[in-house]
Amino acid sequence: MKCSFCAKTQSDRPQGPRVIAGPDGFAICSECVDLCVEILKEERLDVPPILSYDLYVFELDQTPSSTAEIDELLDRIADPDAPIVETSPRLQAFFDEIQTCWSHTGSLDSDPPWAIDPELTDQGVAMCSLFIASPESMRVRIGVSEAAARLGLVIYDPQTNAIVGP
Ligand SMILES: [Zn+2]
Repeated sequence: MKCSFCAKTQSDRPQGPRVIAGPDGFAICSECVDLCVEILKEERLDVPPILSYDLYVFELDQTPSSTAEIDELLDRIADPDAPIVETSPRLQAFFDEIQTCWSHTGSLDSDPPWAIDPELTDQGVAMCSLFIASPESMRVRIGVSEAAARLGLVIYDPQTNAIVGP
C-alpha cells in the first residue's frame, strides 16, 4: 500500500512512515499527516484576530472638550427621567447610511460587523451607539468614522477617551 500523497510505502522499520488506508484505494502516510497538521496550525495562526471597537456618535452643538463632559452626556442617557430629545436628521442619516453599508440582514458570507446592532438613543441626548466586532473591524471603524465626520457628528471612543468633533 502506497501513500496517495507522497507515494511512500509502509516501512518495516518501526520509525518509518505508517500508511493508513482510506476509502476507494486512497491512503495517507504518517509523515503526510504530520505535514498536514503543521499546515493547518500555520493557517490557524493566519486568521486575523477579531478586534472590537465601541463608538458613540453624538449630534451636539459643540464638541465636548473633556471626557467629563462626555460622561455627563452618558449619565443623561442612563437617566430614566431624562426627556426625549428631537430626532436628529443628521444622526438619522448616519444611522441609515451605516445600516445600508453594513447590513444587519447581510447574507451568510458577509456577516454583519456588529456585536450588537447599532442603536439610536433619543433619551437625554441624541446618540448612536456602535459595537463593532468582526475580522473587518478596522475597515468598518474607518468607514463609520468617515461617515460621522462627513455629517458633522461627534465621535467618542470609550476605550481611548478620544473625542473627535466636526
Ligand atoms: Zn505520504
